[in-house]
Amino acid sequence: MKTSALGRIALATGIAALTVGVLPATAQADDAPVKRKTLPVLVEFGDSAFQHPDQVKAGTPDTYFGTRKDSLASFFSELSRGRYTVVPAVEEGVVGPVKLPMNAAGCDYNQINKLTREELTKQGLVMGEDYESLSITFPAQKAGCAWAGLGSVPGPYTWLNLVGTANGLPVLGHEFGHNLGLGHQGRSMCADGDLVDCEANGTSAKSLMGGGGPAAGISAPEMIRAGWLSDDEAVEVAESGTHTLRSLHGEGSGTRALDIPMGEDRLVVEYRHAAGSFDQDIEGVHAYRVPKGNYGSSSLIDVTEANKTSGNDAPADADAITSVTDKANKISVAVLSSGNGRAEVKVALNGEDLSAVVDAPEETAAPDPEHTGTETDAGAGAEPQIGGQKPAGGSGTDTGAGSDSDSDSGENLAATGGDSSTLPLAAGGAALVAAGAATVVLMRRRKRA
Ligand SMILES: [Zn+2]
Repeated sequence: MKTSALGRIALATGIAALTVGVLPATAQADDAPVKRKTLPVLVEFGDSAFQHPDQVKAGTPDTYFGTRKDSLASFFSELSRGRYTVVPAVEEGVVGPVKLPMNAAGCDYNQINKLTREELTKQGLVMGEDYESLSITFPAQKAGCAWAGLGSVPGPYTWLNLVGTANGLPVLGHEFGHNLGLGHQGRSMCADGDLVDCEANGTSAKSLMGGGGPAAGISAPEMIRAGWLSDDEAVEVAESGTHTLRSLHGEGSGTRALDIPMGEDRLVVEYRHAAGSFDQDIEGVHAYRVPKGNYGSSSLIDVTEANKTSGNDAPADADAITSVTDKANKISVAVLSSGNGRAEVKVALNGEDLSAVVDAPEETAAPDPEHTGTETDAGAGAEPQIGGQKPAGGSGTDTGAGSDSDSDSGENLAATGGDSSTLPLAAGGAALVAAGAATVVLMRRRKRA
């Protein structure tokens, strides 16, 4: 599979996840904006410390909460269109470095988490009150971790295995995406345009969770999972008809995604177009399979040969669909027009003939100029509940790739980066494993007969 430099970074940093919380299947987009109290903690070990601790400490608040475009807070604010962001849990924006009574060697992330939380308790910082999200950064030199980042799916924990002096958004955003309940997003090749015959192949490149880097934001099914599309924006299609889509990450109101029943699964259709910080290199109508209603585990349906990534020189619309058919579930989708910030998409259900579907899109105002801000659309993001979560300890009942089902009481593991054979999380039938390998596992599970 071709993976772009950005994709490699994102995947190489990505990683695993422990299911430690319970998250609503999809949050409600009309609730109040979520400001998640996030606590970055710098930790060191008996056998290793940051080479430049002052620089790491000085830069951390800006990396997470700064006003710059590529801070974690700015990224989520823009992506959710004001529904969700991270805010500092402590005034200084960071705690540490704290020396943990353990060695780095062995990359015991559970012990790192446990000892860090014990130290925070000593400092009077209580999870669920003083902070809702714990993000631990430690020096990479001696740890030997097979990943650059790790995140619970969904849940409140991230681990950053730092090389250098600052975390970057490709890693940080990806791990916090896991916290929102998002697994890795793969690609399913359906060469003849019929969804009954598809082959897993690589990553979607349409999401930060699928090798697309931060510039891809996240895809429509993931936006639904996060609770960042209202019912008016993600329209459940119950009968044949024609719909006007506006761009997924653009400003303004209107339908941004079609959510179509497809047997036990869902078929989600989106329109992508450059907007704000996102989709400068993604254009056109794309389709995703959502297995059994798990919007955090979707895969791109690719009926083309281009296999566009965020790094190759395929055109921005190389993976866009013009039509797809699912004979098994008697669904047909055809794109009537696409471009300049809007698309017309016709959907035929129950085996109806596409040509018989009335071409009468509901009246929709012309899209507003495309730019994305952070001040619009009050709403709610998915806020992982931290009450009742299990301590992140031990590897456990990993239920499979991105199967971050809400009822998971065990731990859900997802790892990216490095050699999957060395991943601690790969044991126990781990789901999302690292980088390429992990994604392949993920895709194979999603392959349909
Ligand atoms: Zn990952």
